[in-house]
Amino acid sequence: MLGARGPKLSQVRAVTVALAVAVVAVGGWALVERAETVETLLFLALAVSIVSVTVGYLSERYQRRHLEHLSESRDLLQQTVRSPLSVGALLGRLCQIFGAGFAEVVVLPDALDQRALLVRVRGGRTTETSEAVGEDLLADVFSVIVPASLSLVLREGAGPAQGDAMLARRGLRGAVMAALSVEGRILGSLMVGRGPGDLRPFTEEDRRLLEALAPQVGVTVEKLRLDERINHQAFHDSLTGLANRVLFADRVVHALERRVEPGRLRAAVLFIDLDDFKVVNDTLGHPSGDLLLQGVTRRLRRVVRPFDTVARLGGDEFAVLIEDLAGPEEAVAVAERFLEELTGPFDLHGTPVAIGASVGIAIADRPSMTYDHLLREADVAMYRAKERGKATVETFDAGMQRALERRLRLKADLEKAVSAGELFLEYQPIVALESGTMVGVEALARWDSLHLGRIGPREFIPVAEASGLIREIGRQVLRTACEQAVRWSAGDSGRDLSVSVNLSPRQLLHPDFAVEVATILRETHLSPSLLNLEITESLLVENTATTLERIRALKDLGVTIAIDDFGTGYSSLGELKFLPVDALKIPKSFVDNVATDERERAFLAGIIGLGRTLDLRVVAVGVEHAGQLDELRGMSCDLAQGFHFAEPLDPQGVADLLSRQSAGAAAGWGQRPWKAAPAQRPSGDAGSLLRSA
Ligand code: C2E
Ligand code: MG
Repeated sequence: MLGARGPKLSQVRAVTVALAVAVVAVGGWALVERAETVETLLFLALAVSIVSVTVGYLSERYQRRHLEHLSESRDLLQQTVRSPLSVGALLGRLCQIFGAGFAEVVVLPDALDQRALLVRVRGGRTTETSEAVGEDLLADVFSVIVPASLSLVLREGAGPAQGDAMLARRGLRGAVMAALSVEGRILGSLMVGRGPGDLRPFTEEDRRLLEALAPQVGVTVEKLRLDERINHQAFHDSLTGLANRVLFADRVVHALERRVEPGRLRAAVLFIDLDDFKVVNDTLGHPSGDLLLQGVTRRLRRVVRPFDTVARLGGDEFAVLIEDLAGPEEAVAVAERFLEELTGPFDLHGTPVAIGASVGIAIADRPSMTYDHLLREADVAMYRAKERGKATVETFDAGMQRALERRLRLKADLEKAVSAGELFLEYQPIVALESGTMVGVEALARWDSLHLGRIGPREFIPVAEASGLIREIGRQVLRTACEQAVRWSAGDSGRDLSVSVNLSPRQLLHPDFAVEVATILRETHLSPSLLNLEITESLLVENTATTLERIRALKDLGVTIAIDDFGTGYSSLGELKFLPVDALKIPKSFVDNVATDERERAFLAGIIGLGRTLDLRVVAVGVEHAGQLDELRGMSCDLAQGFHFAEPLDPQGVADLLSRQSAGAAAGWGQRPWKAAPAQRPSGDAGSLLRSA
């Protein structure tokens, strides 16, 4: 049945038969009563022509309406292809065309682990839901494929049980259904149905019409789906499915424009950076890195509300937008919940991997806040969290703003400073406690900036690490220190001094690093046994195969390795004995109170004892007075450096000290004769890094 508007052929036939019967009855009666042949024949001729005109008229009218209807339906559907209607509007049209109250389209997903889309129009109202692709849904969709056609009519109680179940699930008495297919692919199914209040059944004709319309609906749905996919790709990260930077920015901008009730905050942004993600990527490979990012995404989603926006900004950086919140503590709570979620290890293709994250928070607490502003503040807070030892949460404040400005300034100036020779080395003596003589020095980088004055390595080395400049600086430090060590050996004293050089993780992890060291040793002619490389304990905590491999390659060159700041990086003492290292350097903070605090003394004695047991040399750093020295001697510590002996010196200062000691003069450490003049650049270019660029 084609809805309420056009007469059907069967109706036309019924009317025609009724007319014919009426005419024959009247004609017969006239014949019997009057028996006038001519009149009777005239009457019959008139009756026949009336009937045939009526039949012709009704038949033509039926044909015209039918064609009109078909073309109207096609036009409507074609229009939706050109200027896409929503699927809901499309289904509304189908309801009109079939005079039905219900229409539904089921669109199957590309992959079975995704959800199917169900759009339904019932009584003019559209609902859009997604459903997991279960057996019922697949059976419904594929029931439409019957021998010889891609459509069927369903009548309550008349068809297969599957049909009844489908009608019952939708609260329908009858329906007509067709497959949605594009170029032979089944996209899903299309259904038009009538509820209990409408007794008109669907016919074969309805089935054919829906089947004829289905390809156009299919094309429309495919196009909408494609648009949606393109849209999705443009605004989402393909690896994690999270919002990308563009969508995140848009959401933040909208959040900042929204009105909120007095006393509430418009938005907070969490900036999340995974700690040491690069190590995972470098050592386990990119597929494992990808798996980790997806795992982190799942855990991140668990701690936010469904309407908060979670984005991947790139690499291992994520961001969360929290809208309309009571106070900053709400954002902090989300960040802390996330860090807690992260504590369990991830299974990366069978390898358990633990990862932390640093989270920076910025709050939109002023009406003037912009997206750029908010994101930059969250970024700065995140950096502060990283500096504070990772796996921490920091909220942005004004002090951070000043630090940020200085950091940006340093970053901009540092590259020029390297080529302008503003960087140079000082050397701090390392003393053998038993003999009291200087046996080595530690090379310490310095920056005398033309604009900013002296800047310490604790400030500029992290900037160099972040900008990648550290490899160049590190190379120059190493070459300069080696050249200098050779010069001292060739000096008047004729004594060898070992030189210790600090390494950044980025230098050590570079695949070419051992080759670079070998080249420098060869070109400077320094005996490898005189070069000691200091690595940070955090590198060993990872204890990854790559780190160990790199350390072994260096040891093969004949250089020695020390663990700097030992005891601050939580490396497992049990594993220490397997590490290919030669010395432990104990940080100043462990030495500070050794003369006054019983517990600190016990702790330090423990570490020194451990070093001796493992046959490692122990160097105490930051010895400032004789009391500490006595304690260290009592604990049989091998070596020490500190202001008590000498502050970092220029190359000439070290040479003078060497000559004095060789001449047999008492070092006189206690009187601190080896104090460097503050902020004094070394004379000539002996300590400058420029020479060896
Ligand atoms: P570090 O390797 O632990 O170096 C020892 C630091 O302690 C030096 O600080 C030294 O001046 C200081 N120090 C030594 N004895 C005393 C003392 O008795 N009292 C006090 N108050 N301080 C003492 P500096 O030169 O500021 O270096 C800081 C850190 O910067 C170094 O710590 C090292 O980690 C890093 N660094 C320095 N130069 C380089 C470099 O060329 N490359 C890399 N990657 N890092 C470097
Ligand atoms: Mg050091």
